[in-house]
Amino acid sequence: TLPPRLFYEAVEQSSMAISITDDRARILYANPAFTRVTGYPAGEVIGRNESILSDQHTPALVYETLWGRLRQLQPWSGRLVNRRRDGSRYLAELNIAPVLDAGGRLTHYLGMHRDITEMH
Ligand code: FAD
Repeated sequence: TLPPRLFYEAVEQSSMAISITDDRARILYANPAFTRVTGYPAGEVIGRNESILSDQHTPALVYETLWGRLRQLQPWSGRLVNRRRDGSRYLAELNIAPVLDAGGRLTHYLGMHRDITEMH
């Protein structure tokens, strides 16, 4: 079996922006790519909701669809316009997945995204 340290290093070194949140989308962990993409050092986002990345113009229906999937313990993939720490906007391709405990109960969420502004 793989040592836990390897999982940590793999996530730390991933080029995808990766964050882990509690069951209310409050950030517990963010990797270095998250900082590169969003401009937020991990220390500034820990404890805050992922909604700090929200562009204020995204229709609520988009978030309702996202949360509708997560409530059913299903992952959601899609694109969102996000806002960096400096206020600039970027197009994000995201995958957000529930993390379940051994009993199948939701405990956390895993968020992965990348900036696809250039590719669009
Ligand atoms: P909110 O008030 O947060 O939510 C809008 C609607 O979403 C609400 O009316 C409600 O229907 C639903 N909703 C919100 N929170 C919950 C909840 N805990 N349970 C059930 N339904 C809920 N958003 C981004 O804009 N960019 C991101 O990169 C991003 N990454 C995320 C990564 C992860 C791992 C998770 C879990 C969430 C992420 N979100 C992201 C979603 C984010 O948490 C907010 O819900 C979203 O940004 C909308 O924020 P808001 O304050 O405008 O509205």
